Amino acid sequence: MIKNSVVIVAGGKGTRMGEEISKQFLEIDQNPILYYTIKAFEDCNEIDEIIVVIGENDINYFNNNIKDIYKFKKLNKVVYGGKERQNSVYNGLKACENCEIVLIHDGARPFVSRNIIKKGIEFAKKYGASACGVMPKDTIKVKDKNGLSINTLKRSELVAVQTPQCFKYELIMKAHDYIQDNDIQVTDDTMAVELLGKTVYLYEGDYTNIKITTPEDLILANYLVK
Ligand code: C5P
Repeated sequence: MIKNSVVIVAGGKGTRMGEEISKQFLEIDQNPILYYTIKAFEDCNEIDEIIVVIGENDINYFNNNIKDIYKFKKLNKVVYGGKERQNSVYNGLKACENCEIVLIHDGARPFVSRNIIKKGIEFAKKYGASACGVMPKDTIKVKDKNGLSINTLKRSELVAVQTPQCFKYELIMKAHDYIQDNDIQVTDDTMAVELLGKTVYLYEGDYTNIKITTPEDLILANYLVK
């Protein structure tokens, strides 16, 4: 019986990277970024099943360069991504088999630790939904449309949310059915749960749990991998 599944979304192109190849396949220390991400969950005892979401155009590349080479034992299914991240997540969620808790994680976040994964599962069991995050390092301001500052937010009350975001399966399925049926755009999965009127437990992430988005991130990634 599968208890804890992870859906790793790697169905985007990553155009901010300015490369031909999708960003999750760029290499750090001779292995693709997505290899490190999948390996983090493969090596975590609390995870029973891994589902990877890949863009239709990238499927051959994924099979040849990751699936057939590293042969991850927990990799149960590979499904196609959708137009937006939330469509990719939805496809991944529908492919889960009888799980109790599901973690949703960005394929482009290779340095997630075992501790963050474990805590996410524990808190999702307790609260229904959990997500890790860190306090923003910069002061965050709100501006008007002329670029003038309106307000300065209190940093201690802010969280820059990362993944994994972890949920009771039934709850996150209901949340994604709801945004799909009502044509609502969300920027992450916790927002979908909030739209159902539920709260999400936010716990301490890590500044090294970076999402590789722009070329500078690769410089840090090459340092962190060592
Ligand atoms: O674009 P961004 O970096 O915010 O994407 C976060 C994660 O979501 C990435 O790992 C990306 O591959 C994935 N994604 C997806 N399907 C999309 C868009 C993004 O799986 N349509």
